[in-house]
Amino acid sequence: MRFKDLAEIEAAIPRCTKCPRLIQYIGEVAEKKVKRYRDQNYWGKPVPGFGDHAARLLIIGLAPGAHGANRTGRMFTGDDSGHWLYKALYETAFASQPQSESRDDGMQLHDAYISAIVRCAPPQNKPTAEERRNCSVYLEEELRIMRRQLKVVICLGRMAFEQYCRIEKLHGLEFGHLFTYTMKDRPTLIASYHPSRQNTNTGRLKWEPWLAVFKTARGLLQ
Ligand code: SF4
Repeated sequence: MRFKDLAEIEAAIPRCTKCPRLIQYIGEVAEKKVKRYRDQNYWGKPVPGFGDHAARLLIIGLAPGAHGANRTGRMFTGDDSGHWLYKALYETAFASQPQSESRDDGMQLHDAYISAIVRCAPPQNKPTAEERRNCSVYLEEELRIMRRQLKVVICLGRMAFEQYCRIEKLHGLEFGHLFTYTMKDRPTLIASYHPSRQNTNTGRLKWEPWLAVFKTARGLLQ
């Protein structure tokens, strides 16, 4: 599969049905909903990338949240992980506002684009190896299309880091929070813990070390 630009990938992703388990799951979640969102229409489809098509910073997450992006239809929008991400992006001047609640909230990203290794919310946030392989084409194509403009890539969580390294054929790199790799003829790679509730509620990821990831990216782009 080859796409001509990011807009074409963004249009194709919501129509993708390659992973029957995930398509069934996101449909069921959208149907059942949770109490606090029972009056809302869930997106219930694969979620495309979001942001500035001329971005020099690419952020790679794991997958949409079942009641976050799978509900709102925009990456990292409408859940706690998204609150952390957009607040940090706002504080480092990559985002136009600190809160990201819905697709029509006016949020704009400047010089940043948000992607993920899997575009359908997986049960227990655990996509299978086959599902990761199926979805890899979209990230591969984003990287191919953005290759000349990208200066910094942030991978959120080990799984995103390992998938990026696989695609880019980077061997022997160790994952750790704020581990930063500068390479010849490639974007600088920054590894980060994922801002999932599992990490932020337990104190594994605290606000200042999290913000430092985006400050580092900002510094590299200046
Ligand atoms: S996870 Fe990716 S490949 Fe699988 S159905 Fe969703 S969008 Fe398609």
